[in-house]
Amino acid sequence: MTDIAIIGGGAAGAAVFGELVQHKRACTIHWIVGASSPGRGVAYSTDDDRHLLNVRADKMGLFLHQPYDFLEHASGELASVSGSDFLPRRLFGDFVQAQVAALIHSARQQGQSVEIHRASAIDITPAGDDRYSIALHDGRRIEVDGAVLALGALPPRALRCVTSEARESGAYKLDPWNLASDARNPRRVVVIGTGLTAVDTLLTVSTRWPNAQMVAVSRHGLLPSVHARDGFDPYPDQQTLNNDLLSTPSIPQIVRKIRRAITEHAGDWRSVVDGLRPINSLLWQGLTTRQRWQFLRHVRWVWEAGRHRVPPASHGAIEQLREEGRLAILAARVLRVEGSAPLRLTIRDRASQLNSILESDLVIQATGLDTACAYTEHPLISRLLENGMVVPDPLQLGIATEIDGQILSRDGRAQPGLYALGSLLRGGLWECTAMPEIRKAAHGVANRLTDTVLPFGVVGGASSR
Ligand SMILES: Cc1cc2nc3c(=O)[nH]c(=O)nc-3n(C[C@H](O)[C@H](O)[C@H](O)COP(=O)(O)OP(=O)(O)OC[C@H]3O[C@@H](n4cnc5c(N)ncnc54)[C@H](O)[C@@H]3O)c2cc1C
Repeated sequence: MTDIAIIGGGAAGAAVFGELVQHKRACTIHWIVGASSPGRGVAYSTDDDRHLLNVRADKMGLFLHQPYDFLEHASGELASVSGSDFLPRRLFGDFVQAQVAALIHSARQQGQSVEIHRASAIDITPAGDDRYSIALHDGRRIEVDGAVLALGALPPRALRCVTSEARESGAYKLDPWNLASDARNPRRVVVIGTGLTAVDTLLTVSTRWPNAQMVAVSRHGLLPSVHARDGFDPYPDQQTLNNDLLSTPSIPQIVRKIRRAITEHAGDWRSVVDGLRPINSLLWQGLTTRQRWQFLRHVRWVWEAGRHRVPPASHGAIEQLREEGRLAILAARVLRVEGSAPLRLTIRDRASQLNSILESDLVIQATGLDTACAYTEHPLISRLLENGMVVPDPLQLGIATEIDGQILSRDGRAQPGLYALGSLLRGGLWECTAMPEIRKAAHGVANRLTDTVLPFGVVGGASSR
């Protein structure tokens, strides 16, 4: 019997699990999901209904060829739903969980072997004949013919400017999704970051501690743009623009052409940005490492703010907090975080370049995805770096892979049957972290595994290889 492992119990793992089940191959699928129940992962485990999806309901889903499943699920749960709504992330988590339960049931009904391991993978080593041995934290080992790493983002690391005293004080929070258990009653909360994670964190803080003053600080002090309330017409010259950009060899020229299209377009600027989505990864793949670095240094901050937008309701709630004087947004660089209670932050104002001190009872780091493998303490990734089964992307944007996600070893070899999915692929694809991209990649990886590792035998049918 052939064995396949999926490592990671988030939505990306669920998507590739479902795709593989639907191929109905005679194999054992081992899904290694970590400590939590399979499917929800980090993004969809929240129970705060102010945490909204930042993708419209009709664009969310687990499977490429079942685009409206989530919308149908939501219609059964809520009194009125439209495809353009931004629904609670909890609801998407419920949907994924229900899909996973149905998939496990149908796999077992059709005679397919499915094993859910509530454990963490801590090592992968070659086991001969293009097979791999996966070590679990509880001492078990699983031998497989193929594996998909769907680990999500790496555990956040404290910024280098945070002293060990501050880190150990309990007042510096690295995990913005785990504030509920904090018993303190802070007078002031500083959030480091002003992106999507920071917005959700501020909304949570504002209800958890209604009397706390909030400050959000980032180098540019730029909040994400807001989604249009309703949809909009596409930019009529998008195809011409996209073709032109794909043959434009410089970052400044690419930026200029996008800016010009936005200025000339009579409609909504967001339609131009959204119309780039099908070519974002292709554009990235066409850049040299130096150009990618240029993009990260000079363009990323404005790109992220325009591309990753917040729903109107989240934007409205943040604006209200600012109007009420409960929230200040600062454009400043955090130079140092020290002390214990309160913490002292030294910040340098972007405009004046003057330093000042902020005191805060609680500081929450909400600086977004960490994909810098070389510095991570993630047990599996650090072990795979040591044994040469993975190698970091040159810009620390995940691990090095082929475009289809096949993992490269330290000696540059594409390892048969070994794939990655989701944010580990940032270096090769740039855009690979939201469900529309993840479900497409999951479909591709499941097809590649089916063609290469599982070519023979369907459940209830002919013999396996
Ligand atoms: C707050 C937030 C909001 C978001 N909102 C949206 C949105 O509205 N729409 C959208 O499309 N995308 C959104 N995203 C992007 C989101 O990352 C993806 O949609 C998707 O949830 C990613 O799933 P994942 O499985 O790759 O990662 P994760 O959800 O991080 O899941 C990975 C899982 O693997 C586990 N794991 C890690 N290592 C191991 C190991 N060694 N062994 C076993 N298990 C392991 C982790 O513990 C985790 O549970 C959001 C992301 C965040 C963080």
